[in-house]
Amino acid sequence: MAALDAFLAAHEEPEKPIPQDNFCKAIRQNILLIERALQGQMVIPDFTEFCTEIDRIHAVTREERSGKAADYIPQLDLKEPEVDQYGVALCTIDGQRYSAGDAQVFFPVESTCKPVNYCLALEEHGEEAVHAVIGHEPSGASFNELALDKHNRPHNPMINAGAIMSCALIKLRDKRQRTRQSTLSDVNARGWAGMRFDYVMDRWQALCGGEKPRFSTPVYLSERQTADRNFALAYYMREKQAFPEDVDLHDVLEFYFQSCSIELTAEMMSVVAATLANGGICPLTGMRVFKTETVQNCLTLMSSCGMYDFSGEFAFTIGLPAKSGVSGAIMIVIPNVMGICTWSPRLDAHGNSVRGIRFCRQLVETFSFHNYDSLTGSSRKRDPRTSRTRLQTMKVNELIWAASKGDLGAIQAPAAARGRADLCRLRPADAAASRCGGKPGQCREVLHRAPGAGRHRNRPESRRPLGRDSPRRRLPARQRDDHRDAQARRQPPGRDEPAEAGWTAAGVAGALGRIDIHRIHSMQHAMWMNARK
Ligand code: GLN
Repeated sequence: MAALDAFLAAHEEPEKPIPQDNFCKAIRQNILLIERALQGQMVIPDFTEFCTEIDRIHAVTREERSGKAADYIPQLDLKEPEVDQYGVALCTIDGQRYSAGDAQVFFPVESTCKPVNYCLALEEHGEEAVHAVIGHEPSGASFNELALDKHNRPHNPMINAGAIMSCALIKLRDKRQRTRQSTLSDVNARGWAGMRFDYVMDRWQALCGGEKPRFSTPVYLSERQTADRNFALAYYMREKQAFPEDVDLHDVLEFYFQSCSIELTAEMMSVVAATLANGGICPLTGMRVFKTETVQNCLTLMSSCGMYDFSGEFAFTIGLPAKSGVSGAIMIVIPNVMGICTWSPRLDAHGNSVRGIRFCRQLVETFSFHNYDSLTGSSRKRDPRTSRTRLQTMKVNELIWAASKGDLGAIQAPAAARGRADLCRLRPADAAASRCGGKPGQCREVLHRAPGAGRHRNRPESRRPLGRDSPRRRLPARQRDDHRDAQARRQPPGRDEPAEAGWTAAGVAGALGRIDIHRIHSMQHAMWMNARK
């Protein structure tokens, strides 16, 4: 939307109507997005409602004050009030964005650079070559554990050993280049480490949708000075001949410290996560940054190894690919939906942000975002990918389908209560149906003709005497007989049946045997369209 924003900003009188030509020019670049927005086809159709929930979760989790900021370098060892900063940002795959709290404060990416460096290594060398030197298994140990797998490889790219290995693979110089570096006249070779750094910054910028990340020299210097464990890991890997040929251990570590010292805001990081959620295409620019296969591999390993030695429990309870960093950031990917970043410096014993973890828990308790929520048909969580109106329509349609198949079990199931209640309220659809060519009052006819049909007990109109143009008065003779039968068989709602349903399952099934199911479908559609007006 950058072009549109720029256009609107440049428009001198924002209140004055924009001439049609100018407007067309402005929206042309974003026409697909605008069309999707106008047709309600965004991945989160009720975005405002969704963001209200995010605000609520942010406010609730903000109350959490346990944990401690990382203290191994002064730049991360924040004191009050800085240590209590808390930002949450999200970006959908349509490019819709929202943030709450301290989402514009820059923080060092630290370990959240690991998935990005892994993707860069994959893009350059392919899966086979990368996984010849890095495994795919969770280590079950802490992120900087001095351990390799049984093939003397780092367990995975999401822990320090694996991340150092990814760094060794990015813009790896071959022997010839390294010899050339000793020739002082070769400017490119001499500036090689700087070019590699520029390249990585450029990729981060593309992942962020064009916004430039920062780099913190103090963090870099501190990381370098406190890196005994990372040096130990690198020496251990060299001893075990884990590195590809030609790798200079010091050079690789320098690059790793640089990568950890890149700084982003939660808002920027949410766009990075959204680019991963979108299969490698940045939702803000439409630019492909990574191949889909690269992102698939990365998300798989984030799911199993992204949260240090809490990864198994995170996969179990949250069920989303994520990566955390000791600065208090968590990058969360909801594939095909959105990227989220939480940032809050207080950490738990695993090194994960306490508030970030609580945010994730609340998020998946509220919304059906856990990887396996799709399996639980009876889940009471909300799916924000479906608008409420669409959800109503689907439930009513399911009910009609079940009735037409004579599936009384499905009709009587508690999960169908909502659909029955909505079908009861089809009255507003009459007007819509008449606009679309349907016969006014037809919905009510259907309801009244349903054997066992009773009207909603609590609705005032259900107690009103029938008017002169009541559909029941206008029923043709044959239907009047049906109607009399229905009246005779009408019973109060059964004890097991929710009172709001207002009719029996057998009644629905019977009625549906006699009516035009396509007509009902078009009425459902009309109701849906009407509700959106
Ligand atoms: N720079 C830190 C380290 O290598 C990053 C670790 C982390 O974020 N978990 O120790």
